[in-house]
Amino acid sequence: MTELSGRCLCGAIAFSGDADIKMMANCHCSDCRAATGAAYGTLVFVDPSEIAITGQPKVFKHVADSGSAMEKHFCPNCGSQMFGRNSNRPNVMSIRAGVLDQKDAVKPAANVYMDSRLPSTPIDPALKAFPKMPG
Ligand SMILES: [Zn+2]
Ligand SMILES: [Zn+2]
Repeated sequence: MTELSGRCLCGAIAFSGDADIKMMANCHCSDCRAATGAAYGTLVFVDPSEIAITGQPKVFKHVADSGSAMEKHFCPNCGSQMFGRNSNRPNVMSIRAGVLDQKDAVKPAANVYMDSRLPSTPIDPALKAFPKMPG
């Protein structure tokens, strides 16, 4: 288990918990790039029951290319992207690595949606790489 905590830019949304990190990946999909405004999003997947959230994130719902109903949870005040949910995986939530306090806990195992990456994005050849989302 890993102690995780973090907050949005303005502090209105915060979270903490002792979580079992299921997976960690850099996602280069166009949805993550648009949502974060960054070259890619690093996602930390945990069980939502292990994370306590204070404040009320705003939820944007959209449909991914896989057909899954996706949710992006963000601070309505400062706009920080915080969490993601996928209708096909109700027992999993993602936390955007950029809002975590535990910098050393962020160790992505893979790059996913490599097909959609910005050509200029540096890629660690030691990590697994998938053209889309595996499995
Ligand atoms: Zn905020
Ligand atoms: Zn993505």
